[in-house]
Amino acid sequence: MSAVPKKMHAMVLERPNAPLVPRELPAPRADPGQILLRVGACGVCRTDLHIADGDLTGPKLPLVLGHEIVGRVVGIGDDVEGFALGDRVGVPWLGWTGGTCPYCASGMENLCEHARFTGYTVDGGFAEVAVADARYAFPIPETYDDLHAAPLLCAGLIGYRAYRMAGDARRLGLYGFGAAAHILAQVARQDGRDVYAFTRPGDTAKQRFARTLGAVWAGDSTARPPESLDAAILFAPVGALAVEALKSVDRGGTVVCAGIHMTDIPAFPYALLWEERALRSVANLTREDGERFMRIAARVPIEAGVTSFPLDRANEALDALRRGEIEGAAVLSIS
Ligand SMILES: [Zn+2]
Ligand SMILES: [Zn+2]
Repeated sequence: MSAVPKKMHAMVLERPNAPLVPRELPAPRADPGQILLRVGACGVCRTDLHIADGDLTGPKLPLVLGHEIVGRVVGIGDDVEGFALGDRVGVPWLGWTGGTCPYCASGMENLCEHARFTGYTVDGGFAEVAVADARYAFPIPETYDDLHAAPLLCAGLIGYRAYRMAGDARRLGLYGFGAAAHILAQVARQDGRDVYAFTRPGDTAKQRFARTLGAVWAGDSTARPPESLDAAILFAPVGALAVEALKSVDRGGTVVCAGIHMTDIPAFPYALLWEERALRSVANLTREDGERFMRIAARVPIEAGVTSFPLDRANEALDALRRGEIEGAAVLSIS
């Protein structure tokens, strides 16, 4: 069992629109209700880009990014139950809720008025050590190593919430075939659904990748699929794709916007929404989403395609993601 570390190496966002800076910081301590983790791996998510690039305003600064944390418990604060030293856990985007607002009271803690978010309003996992509220940490199925478990915690989990919101669509379109879509395609296929993958126009490599994961069709995001879809999920942060997706869904179909930030959605004719098509977003996650998704991950062997980077090269990981060069998920390998 490793001792509780006093110092840690971290990659820190000191201000938006500037590279992360390597820093040696005092390691955090587990306050009551918290667990202290030695971080094994932390996924790099598009939301990290939106925070680093200033699309999402008001981050804690300086900030340790990262909300797909896999680590081992090395410290336990007072009043924590159900965790032991050495346990392996995952920490997602939803880091804390108040439990008293109308949303928390009605099972919608994902919309909590007082929510804190890992790697955004509290420090995350681009560091050797992290703390987390024990109530928002999940056990990780043993079949995944740290690197392959990390993408489950946001790409998988928020992807899954979007998937639930898409209803029982048989023909499911996924716009933007990155970390979330490549995980979800495997879950959808296991559920007997047909996946239609939409990528940046001309990105034949990603289209090929989608087919290897069982997509029945893969093409450009501006193209129409060969059959109309029952639902579509947008992972690409491009508002114009909401309109493209509406054009591709059948009567009664739903288009789910799964990202936290998107460019403006252009005006479109009402006829595209008519016939009970729906356009909606998905925000954050609930703990129930996390528990449900981890049960699925334990049952369905999800093969996350992972490109790993050492912690010091977090800026390269962000740049590669920004350029759309990552096939699957980018993950920082930390210890
Ligand atoms: Zn609340
Ligand atoms: Zn994320």
